[in-house]
Amino acid sequence: MPRGNMPRQPSRSGRQEGVRRGMRAASKNIPARSAARRESPAAPGNVAKPTVPKKKPSYGYDPLNPERVRQIIAGLDQMYPGVTCALTHRSAWELLVATILSAQCTDVRVNMVTPVLFEKYPTVQDFAALEPEQLEPDIRSTGFFRNKSKSVVGAARKIVSDFGGKVPETMEELLTLPGVARKTANVVLGTWFKKNEGVVVDTHVTRISRRLELTRHEDAQKIEQDLMRIIPRERWTDFSHEVIWHGRKLCVARGPKCADCGLEKLCHAADKTWSTVEIHKDAKP
Ligand code: SF4
Repeated sequence: MPRGNMPRQPSRSGRQEGVRRGMRAASKNIPARSAARRESPAAPGNVAKPTVPKKKPSYGYDPLNPERVRQIIAGLDQMYPGVTCALTHRSAWELLVATILSAQCTDVRVNMVTPVLFEKYPTVQDFAALEPEQLEPDIRSTGFFRNKSKSVVGAARKIVSDFGGKVPETMEELLTLPGVARKTANVVLGTWFKKNEGVVVDTHVTRISRRLELTRHEDAQKIEQDLMRIIPRERWTDFSHEVIWHGRKLCVARGPKCADCGLEKLCHAADKTWSTVEIHKDAKP
């Protein structure tokens, strides 16, 4: 008989494959693998159980979860009760001018410039009568003074010619004024007219909203839309003020003071300086 075709003989010791495993399994009262293979699922009383796919574990983290957003708002309320706009003003016009001047400039600096400015030019008509160049020396220290002069004088002229000398109260009308975009309009509408038409998105709101994973956008308009979706409308103005204060006091651009922050447990920012929670690498300014 050619080699390789020999029928398999039981070994004398009875230790052929399967026997030993079956015996060992029997002695431990567990089914042997070979025995399990022989079992037919269709055998009476041996119905195979349907295979249930294993679920991936859900960690349940949703940065936009309404409860998380509520806790962030509550934390801000607690840290900054009753805060309002830091720009000194006595009228809608003064607030509008101060907000235009605050672009790329600190509120402290603007608050040093505006009292002198409004002493010199008390009314919107006074500003409308100026040439932009005449205003430049008065606002020079706020930076970008040429553009800011054009905006302030241009806004004054439009308010006098189209709105009877009164700062308009709607977003649509405010956006027709030179140098006024949504951020400035939101400041004036929310702070002076008490109208929640949007969320003020400045450098602080941008940075902190991204650190807190309330948005992934960098564009101010998209950030504002994201925030308007998750913050209750009646809180838009207060939320803006509180976040701006938070950005000045604790959540500064470099080296935020996380150990002192009331939002620390809710914040997973990648550039935290101290943390008791896990860090999310995409949560960055
Ligand atoms: S924990 Fe730190 S990074 Fe987060 S909001 Fe507070 S100060 Fe900002």
